[in-house]
Amino acid sequence: MDTAIGTSSRPLRVAIVGAGPSGFYAAGALLQQKEYQVSVDIFERLPAPYGLVRYGVAPDHQKIKSVTKVYDRTIQDPRVRYFGNVEVGRDLSAQELQLHYDAVIYAVGALADRRLGIPGEEMENVHSATEFVAWYNGHPDFTDREFDLGQEVVAVVGVGNVAMDVARILARSVEELATTDIADYALEALRHSRVRAIHIIARRGPAQAKFTNPEIKELGELSTADVIVKPEDLELDPASAEAVAQDATAARNLETLRQLAQRGPTGKPRQIHFHFLRSPKEILGQDGRVASLRLEVNELRPTESGYIQAHGTGRFETLDVGLVMRAIGYRSVPIPGVPFDERRGRIPNDRGRVLDGPQGQVVSGLYVVGWAKRGPTGVIGTNKPDAVETVQLLLEDVPHLTPASVDRADPQAVVALLEERGVRFITYQEWKIIDQLEIERGKAQGRPRVKFTRVEEMIQALEAHRRQEAPVEAPTPVQPG
Ligand code: NAP
Repeated sequence: MDTAIGTSSRPLRVAIVGAGPSGFYAAGALLQQKEYQVSVDIFERLPAPYGLVRYGVAPDHQKIKSVTKVYDRTIQDPRVRYFGNVEVGRDLSAQELQLHYDAVIYAVGALADRRLGIPGEEMENVHSATEFVAWYNGHPDFTDREFDLGQEVVAVVGVGNVAMDVARILARSVEELATTDIADYALEALRHSRVRAIHIIARRGPAQAKFTNPEIKELGELSTADVIVKPEDLELDPASAEAVAQDATAARNLETLRQLAQRGPTGKPRQIHFHFLRSPKEILGQDGRVASLRLEVNELRPTESGYIQAHGTGRFETLDVGLVMRAIGYRSVPIPGVPFDERRGRIPNDRGRVLDGPQGQVVSGLYVVGWAKRGPTGVIGTNKPDAVETVQLLLEDVPHLTPASVDRADPQAVVALLEERGVRFITYQEWKIIDQLEIERGKAQGRPRVKFTRVEEMIQALEAHRRQEAPVEAPTPVQPG
């Protein structure tokens, strides 16, 4: 029997795990190529698609979220099916996926956080930005988290764009946030916030700050907060001065920081202070609560490779704070049955081909894209070329892939498996109903949407809608054409 895959009678069957930007770009690249007929099933742990766009991008950055229109075009292609609320490793095993598909692409992002590894980090009132961001964006896993916004002084460790997001959300007025899609409970908690000082702690200098220029400028334009930068912190060592001369973003950032340093405080109710060349060494508590942060003053020295590294000077300072958020990067979460590089916090791979371990052998039919592939770097658009690279390798590999067996390759086989297990998967049509309901809830309040923040809430809303609208179209997944 002819088992050639990639024909109209037997399309190349690819599963994509994760419906965030990298998953959608991988699906888009598969649809665009002309070499093979394809059918793509996207599995997403949460009912809602869009991953980081829905649960990571800050609520006051609505424009960025319009990228979901591109993802909607991909998902509406008849060759694509969406299975929301299906967790690989729980509802379906990684091995089962491999048996049902010719290739599997992991696009699972990086939902866990990195730790500072300093004493006191386990105390209440020490959080990761990962948690805080997911919480204010209404991520169902983080809905029940609590943040002590009764504290007046907060430290945010790290100077990347996530630190900027966290500082900005803490500093913004509730009136401004009330026009966004921030989770309702977060809006309520921020309404009662007593935060008045936010200290951003950077272990290296202003020339090494990781934020991009629009983000630091935006911080300087807040109506409710002054940004305080010490002019002496902007004096550069020779290696940093040389680096800035060759890096347009760093030069622009430095220029913005200089303008902010000149402006100084203008009497706004909140203040955002930058502290460069400071490494947190210990979080000190009183009665189990955070009381202060012990910082070591650093100096910078270039390594042989040119990387400008922070070195402790043995001089210490203490900053009184009541809440600490570390915004020092993300890690992927391992999936049972999928290789994982613990040290680097991602799936080991060679340009997107999954390896059985760091520097290991290629695992046939397994691929990775996005943050799980390259680590938590770049903006949303960075995931497009990254996904294209992986898909190109997958296409090169097609002649050597082990095809899924005839019965398992049947598009209904995976549906039957999920139904047999009682998995309440969400189709794209169902997601669009949830989407519409959220938008309607938002209209009443002049907001882009009011999110459902619990999985059960989404399913109940869907069922209620179905009863109301009956008869409605049955939620049978679209068959690959
Ligand atoms: P990031 O840009 O890598 O920044 C991490 C920061 O944490 C750096 O300042 C880093 O300092 C610091 N850090 C790391 N380990 C530390 C330690 N042990 N002690 C003290 N500081 C430490 O990561 P991110 O802010 O999490 O952002 C992730 C990605 O998402 C980035 O590519 C970012 O641009 C993107 N993003 C974009 C937007 C946007 O476009 N608006 C919004 C959010 C996120 P060193 O430089 O010294 O390592």
